[in-house]
Amino acid sequence: MASIQRINNFINGQFVSTEDYLKSFNPTTEEVIAHIADSSAEDAERAVQAARQAFPSWSHETITKRVYYLNRIADLIQARLEDFARAESLDQGKPLWLARTMEIPRAIDNFRFFATALMQSREIFTPHPTIPNVISYTVRNPIGVAVLISPWNLPLYLLTWKIAPCIAFGCTCVCKPSEFTSVTAGMLAQVFIDVGLPPGVVNFIFGVGPRAGQALITHPDVNVISFTGSTLTGYHIKKATSHLPIKLSLEMGGKNAGIIFNDVDLTKCLPVLLRSCFQNSGQICLCTSRLYVQRGIYDELVKKFIAEVKNLKVGDPFDDNTKMGPVVSKEHQNKIEKYIELARQSGYEVISTGEMDENTKKTNKGYFMMPTIILNVDDNSKLMTDEIFGPVVCIVPFDTEDEVMKRVNNIQYGLCGCIWTENIGRAHRLATQMECGTVWINCWMIRDLRMPFGGIKDSGIGREGYPYSEDVFTEIKTVCINTT
Ligand code: NAD
Repeated sequence: MASIQRINNFINGQFVSTEDYLKSFNPTTEEVIAHIADSSAEDAERAVQAARQAFPSWSHETITKRVYYLNRIADLIQARLEDFARAESLDQGKPLWLARTMEIPRAIDNFRFFATALMQSREIFTPHPTIPNVISYTVRNPIGVAVLISPWNLPLYLLTWKIAPCIAFGCTCVCKPSEFTSVTAGMLAQVFIDVGLPPGVVNFIFGVGPRAGQALITHPDVNVISFTGSTLTGYHIKKATSHLPIKLSLEMGGKNAGIIFNDVDLTKCLPVLLRSCFQNSGQICLCTSRLYVQRGIYDELVKKFIAEVKNLKVGDPFDDNTKMGPVVSKEHQNKIEKYIELARQSGYEVISTGEMDENTKKTNKGYFMMPTIILNVDDNSKLMTDEIFGPVVCIVPFDTEDEVMKRVNNIQYGLCGCIWTENIGRAHRLATQMECGTVWINCWMIRDLRMPFGGIKDSGIGREGYPYSEDVFTEIKTVCINTT
């Protein structure tokens, strides 16, 4: 058994202990792997004050110095990539290969991307169109202290997607990582010490949402909150801050659709479709959980899809052949199982398949779930409208383009969607009509960080990426000069 780590808060450049600690479990073995600071409102207060004190100096730091820090942070994560990947896999249950090849590299890219973005400028300098001798220009000021709140599904990837732009554009911050997966955030704090980031620029408060998180979101000294997590919490934050002059960026839940037309090339489509449904055990906000398949290929697709899922390896995240590790926690497993039970009770055809490794079967430990397909579900069923956030996909047939778009859009979520067809005109037509923030045509989860990222309807408010994150962390100002 690995030794149990203690994850302390990181305030003003130092690790600080708290009175209480929470247990953090390895979802594969169900063993305690870490004791996480269970922060109080007083701990949150100390962290906000540290960020506030660091702000004047950091917001006036030169761009080249900020670029230097961002690149140094990226270098050190790169140097410790294997340690980060192992910790992420142990803590969250994701396959080690996925953490090693996709998620930790993306955390590195987040810092490098915003280091490059900093060297660009979007400011305007222009003579007045009708009044002579008048010139206007814009300047941007960092907004102040940011609270950055992240979920458990892509822990370091999503947290650094917030920290990097925040400090790049001159803000200081208090981060509240998920209580389920705080280990790599603790390791990141050590990186900040090792690169010599000035104390107070980034602070970490660990603990649960209703205690540590709540104290941060309602703190009067906070200027902006960037949140990624469930729709329920996102709306709670919106409500709790409605009386405060706090800027909000909310990235929330999804119930994403894939539309597959008769003309699709199944050999190209199937492997990607499979990933889009089951990567990280379906615990990615961008995963596809509703598949609308045109009737002409419905039977063939369902048959081939089930055959592929049958071969999906479920088990030890440290095994390179594993495609799906456990889900993150017992509570989450129970929630997903309730939906599968609902499908059975409703009389739908439920296919739970996949190949569990022998050792996992023998130990009978861990929050493992088999990939599950539910067929012919009614559009109004909770299975088609609720975010399940696990390895569960509903597959239903459709006939026409108009019909499918109405059905796909008839939902409160609007994060992303996929369209699979060889008819490029139709693909673009539907991409325009799909009510969501990102549409993938014949692909899934390919990200260009210069593109806006975010959702509509219950999936979010605001966009991230460059230049969009700059709008989150800065205020733009007009300066008008009469030169006479
Ligand atoms: P969650 O909303 O339960 O928790 C997210 C974070 O909010 C955690 O750090 C939690 O401690 C904190 N929190 C909870 N209550 C709070 C409060 N009262 N005040 C302040 N902070 C509080 O979400 P989760 O279960 O960790 O993550 C899964 C959800 O995240 C899914 O809905 C998924 O779709 C969503 N998600 C969205 C995106 C996106 O980009 N849109 C990306 C990843 C995950």
